[in-house]
Amino acid sequence: VDFEHCGFPEALNRNLKASGYEVPTPIQMQMIPVGLLGRDVLASADTGSGKTAAFLLPVIVRALSQSKSPSGLVLTPTRELAIQIERQAKELMSGLPCLRTALLVGGLPAPPQRHRLRQRIQADTMLKMGFQQQVLDVLEQLPRDCQTVLASATIPASIEQLAGQLLRDPVTVTA
Ligand code: AMP
Repeated sequence: VDFEHCGFPEALNRNLKASGYEVPTPIQMQMIPVGLLGRDVLASADTGSGKTAAFLLPVIVRALSQSKSPSGLVLTPTRELAIQIERQAKELMSGLPCLRTALLVGGLPAPPQRHRLRQRIQADTMLKMGFQQQVLDVLEQLPRDCQTVLASATIPASIEQLAGQLLRDPVTVTA
């Protein structure tokens, strides 16, 4: 099975090839179809499993077909991870000029970040040092009908409890 089976737009297939993505990883095999269907996902996958592309690809496909902006929000616990995720998003979105990202991180001047967010963007990254309440505060501001994907290397009881609060009838995937 290769990415051609996903029915992605041609530009996206080209970017996958250019990045050396020939076949989906096991977590991508499970997460992409579910993500494209719009279902909430609780994913347990290690770093290196390809989980970043697994949640980014459905967001990119969605962003291509709708005018709502932003159409995706990625919350991540460290600045390094946020930078890495934005880099991968930009790689996958290259040649798709209608799509844009904004990186929002603490410790850097806020006005340029606010300016970037006011432009039409499709995925933004925000980071906080893993405070559950802050995540809940952010999610409370989102439209009720949005799709939520929670990905973590392990799913301890605390995350499972949080997932129960945040996700609607999630599909659980493990790789
Ligand atoms: P991640 O687990 O998301 O941190 O991804 C680990 C690395 O695997 C990243 O450098 C990705 O660019 C790369 N990667 C993700 N999916 C694939 C794939 N299907 N084929 C080859 N490399 C991939």
